[in-house]
Amino acid sequence: MRTFCFKLYKSEHNAKLHRQINAAGLTFNHCIALHKRYYKLFGKYLNQNKLKKHLTRLKKIAKFKYLSEFGSQAVQDVAERIDRAFDLFFGNIKRKVRCSPPKFKKVRRYKSFTLKQAGRKLDEETHTITINGQSYRYFQSRRISGKVKTVTVKSDSLGDIYVYFVTDAKNFEVETRTGKRVGFDFGLKKFLTASNGRDVVSPLFFAKNSVAIRSACKNLSRKRNGSNNRKRARLKLARLYKKSANQRHDFHFKLARRLCLEYDTICIEDLNLKGMQKLYGRKISDLGFGNFVNILKYEASKFGTIIREVGRYFASSQICGCCGEKNPQVKDLKIRQWICPNCGAEHDRDRNAAINILQAGLRQRPLRETP
Ligand SMILES: [Zn+2]
Repeated sequence: MRTFCFKLYKSEHNAKLHRQINAAGLTFNHCIALHKRYYKLFGKYLNQNKLKKHLTRLKKIAKFKYLSEFGSQAVQDVAERIDRAFDLFFGNIKRKVRCSPPKFKKVRRYKSFTLKQAGRKLDEETHTITINGQSYRYFQSRRISGKVKTVTVKSDSLGDIYVYFVTDAKNFEVETRTGKRVGFDFGLKKFLTASNGRDVVSPLFFAKNSVAIRSACKNLSRKRNGSNNRKRARLKLARLYKKSANQRHDFHFKLARRLCLEYDTICIEDLNLKGMQKLYGRKISDLGFGNFVNILKYEASKFGTIIREVGRYFASSQICGCCGEKNPQVKDLKIRQWICPNCGAEHDRDRNAAINILQAGLRQRPLRETP
């Protein structure tokens, strides 16, 4: 499975898509309301099939005209989305994670709907997609490989619309067989510290963007509520956020690809992102380690690179990479360099951690090997 994302050209017809996305939002809220009512009446969870049948019946009532606005399969997909959300919720309850069931969303915050086979037609030659009877041109930046399974229409905070094609194409491109292995430690100053010394520094645009974002934020807060100026300032801020996200995304993909082409085994830490966020705040979200790991796994599946995650309770920074002695005195994050009391080896904190992660990863039986 692969996903291809393209932007639609700006057109007055795009308003139709925005209306359809809104209709999907209304449907979502209606389904949530049904779930709630059903639970109140019967004390049970509303089955997906029952909900779908009910939605089909509702369509005939004039009040629910919006249900037929964005395609019958897309309506069913909304029910499936809620079902997936409930699955997650029940799973969390089982694992005793604090959470709440899916709840109402503001319609303007609802951004997408998904079409399966019906209601869409794709013409790759002219870069046109027909959605519910209206055709739109998209900017095709690459060839689509495989057969398109679903199409998701999504709008972003700037009001641009993107189409996501999910195809059945195989991920595999070529196999990396260089015999090289590496361990990486994630960090704030250096994005990745490598066990072999080939580190990756954090790109500068993160810091640069944050200055611009701060000033745009300040600008927005000075504008009067409901004014056109405020609208403009809001868009400007959204554009900056979008740019920042795009840059990050691009950096992650290029880096992941490069690493997967170079190494055939990559060992990393299983990150405790929530904990890290509590410790370091926004900087962690800025760097987007979680996203990067997902992208790395995705790229690894293309090149046959094996990703091994070392458990989060493995004390990678306290163990001496030379003799294996644990030295709890260096737990304090401020200690950047230390000398092992057992064997006398000098260590750089992050480099030593990366070496330990590599060793622990290689010791691991390849349980969670990427296919
Ligand atoms: Zn030692």
